[in-house]
Amino acid sequence: MRRSVIDISDLSPAELEALMDTAEDIIAHPAAYAESCRGKKLATLFFEPSTRTRMSFEAAMYELGGNVLSMTDAASSSAAKGESVADTARVISCYADIIAMRHPKEGAALVAANNATVPVINAGDGGHCHPTQTLADLLTIRREKGGFSGLTVGLCGDLKFGRTVHSLVNALSRYGDIRFVLISPEELKLPSYVKEDALKSKGIPYRQTERLEEVMPDLDVLYMTRVQKERFFNEEDYLRLKDSYILDPAKMAAAKEDLIVMHPLPRVNEISVAVDRDPRACYFKQVLYGKYMRMALILKLLGEAAS
Ligand code: ASP
Repeated sequence: MRRSVIDISDLSPAELEALMDTAEDIIAHPAAYAESCRGKKLATLFFEPSTRTRMSFEAAMYELGGNVLSMTDAASSSAAKGESVADTARVISCYADIIAMRHPKEGAALVAANNATVPVINAGDGGHCHPTQTLADLLTIRREKGGFSGLTVGLCGDLKFGRTVHSLVNALSRYGDIRFVLISPEELKLPSYVKEDALKSKGIPYRQTERLEEVMPDLDVLYMTRVQKERFFNEEDYLRLKDSYILDPAKMAAAKEDLIVMHPLPRVNEISVAVDRDPRACYFKQVLYGKYMRMALILKLLGEAAS
């Protein structure tokens, strides 16, 4: 059965746990997976700039023994000639066994999945969602905090356009005993559809603030984000908001000793490099965990497609 992952809620909580268990097993026994995707091809279709996500998918496929077909430059692809996402998905299905796609338009991955004949993984659709970043985030939290129960999670920065935040809130809200602190300027607040679907309808406690300093001592997880320059219509607004929050050692001094600091990267100014030396900084581990979770997801979707 062919299955795609467009939104994190396409995976049940039990499936998320199983993916994390597979990732743990890959970390412990990488050699056992080195031939798992022999003869299979992953196509990476990236219509928007990306370094880590595309390379993470590609590294994941190589480490599973598979091959990669990569489209990185939308300007030199047939999209530039006016081909629709639906047609591109049909065509690439003839070449590859699975597709990872990033696109600047919200909903593009769903269109691709509805037209492809192989599984499609959404590697980010505009300001909407980014489920495989959430897989990386979940494994980071489970490994570093031992689970999700009882956590106070601070999300800081561009909560409006930050697709990684939307997917993470969605995923964590399914774990029940969790609280959110939403830290952003007024203009970059979490969209009401995310608040409604993931928080209000499930009765998940949350509060909103503009002041990071004020809430530092309460947090178990602090998820910093970049202000999403490419989604702004107006450069002036971006310039005014881009340095709203800068995490530095002085702010870290007020935090819990077992806080973990996460960031989906790329970092611009939101975290001072001096914080990198702090053992609570987890953002580079998060990158590595992302590769293992993508390996686990590729294995699962190819396995299901074959059955
Ligand atoms: N890499 C993440 C994304 O693609 C975060 C970011 O770009 O700020 O959404």
